[in-house]
Amino acid sequence: MIFRQLFEPQSSAYTYLIGCERTREAVLIDPVLETVERDLALLAELGLALHYTIETHIHADHVTGAARLRQETGSKTAVPEKSLADHVDVPLREGEAIAVGDLSLKPLYTPGHTDDHFSYLLEAADGSRVFTGDALMIDGCGRTDFQNGDAATLYRSVHEKIFALPDDTLVYPGHDYQQRRVSTVGQEKARNPRLGGGRSLDEFVAIMDGLNLPRPKRMDVAVPANRGCGEVQGA
Ligand code: FE
Repeated sequence: MIFRQLFEPQSSAYTYLIGCERTREAVLIDPVLETVERDLALLAELGLALHYTIETHIHADHVTGAARLRQETGSKTAVPEKSLADHVDVPLREGEAIAVGDLSLKPLYTPGHTDDHFSYLLEAADGSRVFTGDALMIDGCGRTDFQNGDAATLYRSVHEKIFALPDDTLVYPGHDYQQRRVSTVGQEKARNPRLGGGRSLDEFVAIMDGLNLPRPKRMDVAVPANRGCGEVQGA
């Protein structure tokens, strides 16, 4: 397997490149518009053909690179069915795996940060990885106060879908604001200050209710653009 974790500093967002060694097919999870050129250069350098761009959810803090990458490579945009986005080539549903050559990504429905959110499980010979988007982050989680977010729903998603995976499953988040790159299910279960260490649902809801976060600066641009897979009006 070919695997790269890529970082976009403006939104502290991770994009993941997953490629099949044998067929040279690749996917990008959560590509960002600003880093499309970097991603194209990397695909060329590694000799990979981009088949799909895959979104974990409709982002509020950055614009997806999906439409640009489709223009450049002919890749298909794969977006959770519940996003009700336009220009979607492949609507994603739980239980319907995405093939990447010999590899397979399993969508896990993990709403709560948004109501359309999926995580993706990749089981490979060298171990399992779960790409958790903004459902579960390292020592944290995504906010639950807009885009039909709901703290109790997020608690159940994380406990029932992600914490149910084997403890040694690697956790790759959608963002990190402190340069951390990877965690494990076991580590988050034990020490995530919001969701781990035996925190109850009520404790989690109280924590999330008390955050009082500002609106993301780019939300008014990013959400409509991402509903069109990153086709920015007037750009
Ligand atoms: Fe988000």
